[in-house]
Amino acid sequence: MPTDNEFTRILQWPGYRVYQHKIDEKGKTLDLWVRRKRGNRKLECSGCGRKFEDVYDCNERAVRDLPWSEFNTTVHIEVYRVKCPHCGVRIEKVPLLPSKAPFSKRFEDAVGQACESASARQVARRFGLADSTVRAIDLRYLERWAASRRRPALRQMGVDEIHLGKKQKFLTVVCNLETAEPLWFGRERKKETLDEFFEKQLSVRQRHGIEAACVDMWEAYRLSIEQWAPQCRIVYDKFHVMQHANKAIDEVRRAEFFRKGGRMRGLVKGKRWLLLSRWMNLTADKRQELNQLFALNRKVFKAYLLKESLDRLWTYRYEGAMLNYLQRWIDQLRWQRLEPFRKLAVMLLDHLDGILNYCRTKVPLGVVEAVNGDIKSLLRRGRGYKNLRYLLLKAQRMAATKTEFVVFKKAA
Ligand SMILES: [Zn+2]
Repeated sequence: MPTDNEFTRILQWPGYRVYQHKIDEKGKTLDLWVRRKRGNRKLECSGCGRKFEDVYDCNERAVRDLPWSEFNTTVHIEVYRVKCPHCGVRIEKVPLLPSKAPFSKRFEDAVGQACESASARQVARRFGLADSTVRAIDLRYLERWAASRRRPALRQMGVDEIHLGKKQKFLTVVCNLETAEPLWFGRERKKETLDEFFEKQLSVRQRHGIEAACVDMWEAYRLSIEQWAPQCRIVYDKFHVMQHANKAIDEVRRAEFFRKGGRMRGLVKGKRWLLLSRWMNLTADKRQELNQLFALNRKVFKAYLLKESLDRLWTYRYEGAMLNYLQRWIDQLRWQRLEPFRKLAVMLLDHLDGILNYCRTKVPLGVVEAVNGDIKSLLRRGRGYKNLRYLLLKAQRMAATKTEFVVFKKAA
C-alpha cells in the first residue's frame, strides 16, 4: 500500500501534501485529502492579493482532479479564509483552484484542451460531465488564456457582418488583419454597433493608430470609422465587392429562369452554387454543366463573365491601371440590359476612392473572408452559441492555434 508521502509525490500539487486517502476498488474512485505543507503558510487574499500569516477559519473543498489510471480522483483540500482590512473576511487565493466550480485547474485545462478539437458534447461524454458543465469549463479555460496573453497593436482592421438567421439577424465582426484574429463581436450592423467597439474597446491612442480598414460598401460602418478614426483609410476589398457581384449574378439567374417557370426552372435547379463558383475552381464536369446552362441563356453567360472578370481588378497594383480596368469593365455593360450589374457599377463608382485605396494601402487579401469562414464553421459545429463572448474566445483561440501551427511548421 502506498504511503501518503508517495501519494504526495505522484499528485504533485505544489505546496500541498496528502495526509489521508481512500481507495474504492469497486467504484473505481480515489479520494485524497491534502493540506498545505509546513513551509507554505503565506496566505493571499483573493480580493486584493495582500499577504497574511493568520488564518481566520478553515474549510474543506472537494474538487475533481485528473484521473489516476482508471480511478476518478477527488481531492479534498483545506482552504483558509483571511481577515483582510481591505476586503473583509475573504477566501484565500489558491492557484490550483481557478473558480468556485468543483474542479482543479489542471482538470479544467484538460477539458478545455479537449474542446479545441472536439464538440462540447463529445468531450462531455468522454469526461462523464454534462454538456453545460463542459461549456462552462471551456469558457473559463479560454478566459484564463485570453487574460494571460499580449495583444498585438491594431493597425489594420477588418469589419464584416455575418448573417445569423431570421431571428438573431446580423453580427458585426471586427478583426485584426495582420494577425487574422477576430477582436470583437457586436449585435446588428448599425453605425451604433461599430461605435460601441471604438468607444469601449479602444483608447484614443489605439483609435488613432489604425491605418486602414477593410469594410463592406455599407454606409453605417463608413460613418462610424470616419467619426472615430478619421485618419484611417477605408479600403473596399475584393471579398466585399465580390459578395455584391455574386448577389448581382444571382439576381440575373432568378430573373432569367425562375420567372419563366416550367421546364427552364427544372433545368437550373441547384445551379446557383455553380454560378457563384470561380471557373478555375470547377472540375471539368461542373464546367460542362455551366456551359449547358450558358447555351440556354446568353444573359446568364454574360453575367458570369462579368463577375469573373471583375475579380481581376485586384491584380492591378497601380491606381491608374486599376481605374483603367474598371472603366473598361463598366464599358462592357453597355447594351447588355443587365440591371443588377448596372446597379453594381453605380455602386463601384460611388465608392471609387475606397476601391483605389487598395493600391495606396497594402492590406492582406482574404483575411476577412477567412475569419468569417472560421466563425461560420464554429457556429455550424457548436449550435447554441448564445453567449457571444464564448464564441469570440473560441474563434480567437482558433486563430491563435493556426498561427502557432504555422510558426511551428516554419521552425521544423
Ligand atoms: Zn483583500
